[in-house]
Amino acid sequence: MTTVPELLPATRAFLAKPTKMLIGGQWREASSDETLPSIDPATGKVIAHFPSGTAADADEAVRAARRAFPAWKKVTPYDRGRLLQKAAALMEKYGDELAELITIENGKPLWEAKKEVGTAVSWTEYYAGWTTKLLGDTIPLSLPGQFLNYTTREPLGVVVGITPPNYPLTMPLYKAAPALATGNTIIIKPSEDTSLVALRLGEIFTEAGFPDGVFNVVTGLGETVGATFANHPDVDKITFTGSTEVGRAMVRASAGNLKKLSLELGGKSPNIVFADADLEAALKGVFMGIFFCQGEICSAGSRLFLERGIYDEFVARLADMARSVKLGHGLDAETKMGPLVSKAQQERVLGYIDIGASEKAQTLAGGKAGTGALADGFFVEPTVFSGVHNQMRIAQEEIFGPVVCAIPFDDLPDAIAQGNDSPFGLAAGVWTRDIRKAHQAAAALEAGTVWVNCYNAFDNASPWGGFKQSGWGREKGPYGLDLFTQIKSVIINFT
Ligand code: NAD
Repeated sequence: MTTVPELLPATRAFLAKPTKMLIGGQWREASSDETLPSIDPATGKVIAHFPSGTAADADEAVRAARRAFPAWKKVTPYDRGRLLQKAAALMEKYGDELAELITIENGKPLWEAKKEVGTAVSWTEYYAGWTTKLLGDTIPLSLPGQFLNYTTREPLGVVVGITPPNYPLTMPLYKAAPALATGNTIIIKPSEDTSLVALRLGEIFTEAGFPDGVFNVVTGLGETVGATFANHPDVDKITFTGSTEVGRAMVRASAGNLKKLSLELGGKSPNIVFADADLEAALKGVFMGIFFCQGEICSAGSRLFLERGIYDEFVARLADMARSVKLGHGLDAETKMGPLVSKAQQERVLGYIDIGASEKAQTLAGGKAGTGALADGFFVEPTVFSGVHNQMRIAQEEIFGPVVCAIPFDDLPDAIAQGNDSPFGLAAGVWTRDIRKAHQAAAALEAGTVWVNCYNAFDNASPWGGFKQSGWGREKGPYGLDLFTQIKSVIINFT
């Protein structure tokens, strides 16, 4: 590891003070007084502690959010938008500090963390703009007499956002910004691996002037705090991003009061390269598609389908690129890839690498944890498996790390059949110069997003969500408004 610069004074000051949760406008310790450690995944060292919330704390947050809802619902759309704009401006102001906090808690390189801050700002601004544009319809009725039928979009009430660690800042905002824009109150339950960033966000929303109880953050374990929210009879909606396994638990837990549920879950996305593609562009796209964010991204192009004629050369070049990646601390300017977010995640990914070896896949690059100066961090080398068959476990199960499985295919129908042969359906990539083939593939792939001649191209306005076991509902753009509103139909007889 080369030099890691000193933390900014603002980051040091934030880490030095006691970290508390935000419930009903009050900063509190857990009712049990217990804490959890926040660990820098590049060093394995504890950087701070944060409250390990209890079921009672979760319940208190629901009551606070419920109390705040009637007044918040009445705040004018313009004023709701102004508050969100203010929060966005503060995120921009504190951007360097936020990016640094993301890097030391999540591990991703600082340049990626800065991109995340940029997305957080533009995302919040995007939904601030929607507050004044939540229109209804007028419906022509065929009833005898004179009637006016109009619809309004109403908030749901108390919304809980349960989030994963891969985007510590934007994930809570993917939930909070549209929920608040549409007049709901929100409680964020961040990942226990990246709770500090969410708590800093709580400070920012407080500074922006959101009324008490409108934006709350409760930290703690999924199986205690998260499960309490999922089972809670007075939560109107859970918006969950995480694994498909926990998503299933959310469905079961929500049955009690039939709370609304939207789910952004796992993926095992096919990235399909035809021999007629611009192979240089495809190579770069495939590389970023799997190794961006250390592969800890739901849309990771983790199944690489290569047309048989280009298979050997493409996979060899990809392996060369993977071997040249410089692993290191995310604050080190030379680092190209950081560690995985936790020891548990590192062990899980290394476990899958062992499974790949036992399934007789060939490791062309990577396959090991960090060594030497990196040994204390949770690093995994970017790994390229060749000779993979789509039925192997490494091709069917989500690894959520920097591991790509290269699989050959013969023609378009074969690529589609293999690409779709997965319980997941989050995203897919297609690389070809043949526009007919591109459209045929886009039409046939079972995925919420299909990228053609690009990969991981995200935009606030473009819908995001999964087919099959990758989720329920669509976040982003105008589609995201549907997740946080319910339609009321008013019929007036003025005959
Ligand atoms: P996870 O499911 O283990 O945890 C996600 C969140 O759920 C955490 O906050 C955790 O504390 C909480 N949780 C855990 N058990 C719970 C329970 N029983 N009740 C309530 N809450 C509980 O997922 P992870 O490992 O943190 O994140 C990685 C997963 O997230 C991957 O599967 C990835 O594909 C998925 N993900 C999906 C998207 C998407 O947009 N589709 C985006 C990012 C990540």
